Formats: sequence, C-alpha cells, structure tokens
Amino acid sequence: MLKLGYNEATCKENSSVEQDLQLCEKYGYDFIELRLDMLKEYLKTHSIDQLKDFFQRSHLKPYALNSIENINFCTPQQWEQLVELFTFGCRIAQAIGNPYIIVVPTVSEEICNKNEKDVFDDSVQVLNKLADIAEPYGVKLSFEPIGDRRWCCNSLRQALEIVTAVDRDSVGLTVDCINVYMNDKCADVEFIRKIPKQKLFVFHINDCEDFPLGILDHCDRIMPGHGVIPIEAMVEAVKSAGYEGPACLELFRPEYWEMDAEDVIRMGAETTRPFL
Ligand code: ZN
Repeated sequence: MLKLGYNEATCKENSSVEQDLQLCEKYGYDFIELRLDMLKEYLKTHSIDQLKDFFQRSHLKPYALNSIENINFCTPQQWEQLVELFTFGCRIAQAIGNPYIIVVPTVSEEICNKNEKDVFDDSVQVLNKLADIAEPYGVKLSFEPIGDRRWCCNSLRQALEIVTAVDRDSVGLTVDCINVYMNDKCADVEFIRKIPKQKLFVFHINDCEDFPLGILDHCDRIMPGHGVIPIEAMVEAVKSAGYEGPACLELFRPEYWEMDAEDVIRMGAETTRPFL
C-alpha cells in the first residue's frame, strides 16, 4: 500500500503553508510536497525552525519541494536565478529533512522544437550541474517529464534515458499520472514497470477530464476517480517497479481554488485513499 501525500499546488491559490500543514495533519496525510513560492510567503512571518518543529511533532513529513522549472537551455541570467532558487530549496530541504526537489524541463514554443539529442545532451549536463550543488546538502533531484509537447522532455522513456545517462544516486524520476496520459493517453503504462526502483523517486496522483491531447491542460486535472486516467493500472505499475513512497495528490484546478481549502484537502484524502 502506498502512503498518502499532498502537493501544495492543489490549493495554491486558496491556502498557505501553515494551513496546508494543519489540514494535511488533520486528514491523515503521511507526506507533503511544499511549494517554494508558498514557502517564501511562509518565511515572511515564520522561521525555518518553526517549520522543522512542526514536522518533528507531527505525523506529516516533508517529501519533495516543488519545483525548479525551465531547467533546459537557460541564458546565463536565467541560470543564475534558477541556481539561486535551487540553492534556497536545498537549504530548506536540508534543514527540515526533505529528501527531494522536483526539477522540470523547459516549456517554450522555440525550445520544444529542438531535436531529442540536443535535449538529451542539455538535460544530462544541467542535471549534473544541479546534482553537484544538491549533493552536499543531502538532497536528491526528481526529474519530471511533462506530457504536453510544448515541454522539451515529455515522455518517461526520454526522461529515463536522461537520468540513466546521468547515473548518479541523487538523480531520479517523477511519474505523474496526467503527464503520462498527456503524452500518449497511457498507451504504455507497462513502461513504468521498467523504471529501476532506485530511479523512481516521486509519484504524483491525479485524474483528468476527457479532452483531446493538445487541448487537455493542467487546469483539467481532477480528483482521482473522477476522470479518464487508468489510475489503478498506474498505481499497480509503480508498485511493481518497487516504489514505496507516497502517492502525492497534485492538482491545478481553478474550481478547487474557489473552494474552501479544507473541503478540497478532505475530498483529496477521500478520493485518493481507495487507489493506494
Ligand atoms: Zn507532477
């Protein structure tokens, strides 16, 4: 059985780190994925020690920080900003005992036209540079392919080739249900079973509406069981790959941002639990 996790994107517009921590603890989540932008808000009125204290006296534990985005083909200025945010994430992760940081490939109309070899070479180089920074903090990078073609790395197959070439214990993969669905409507769920256990770091659980690929977007994510993703088959596949971490509920649905965060977080636990 997988553990229950919560990703803060789910209520990012109608909650805060402080509230998410309380509600996730209340509804029995085992892990939380904190967002770096929400953490920056939190730290305006709280200290890292307060966050650390919360986790020490709670069942809820930190799992992965979200997220370092657009990591590929950066200009020197973009890279400098990225490293600054990434280092901020590493410092917090180390302080609170959070094992992973999610890193995401670049989305842009121009860069998604690059050929696969260029994306491979750049990703291997960038992940190595970030791992050089993260390893002294004891933090691991979980590379997440985003299924839509606008992202330069959009399949698990492509992402696995990249992290295999990087070949560091500190660099692995995130499997996200909608990102697998957006790539090929989950035509090859069995591929997940081929991911080596030591390379499968994070699992994001979600469902989505029945829109055509190319139209379907992240705002169409919906509670598990309310959409068309074969979640059961995906959970079976991550389990058979040896994954023992949490299934972290990650939604970006504006409708849920209009609701009371407590209702969303309670509904998230209720709808996700049957799939664990
Ligand atoms: Zn995700």
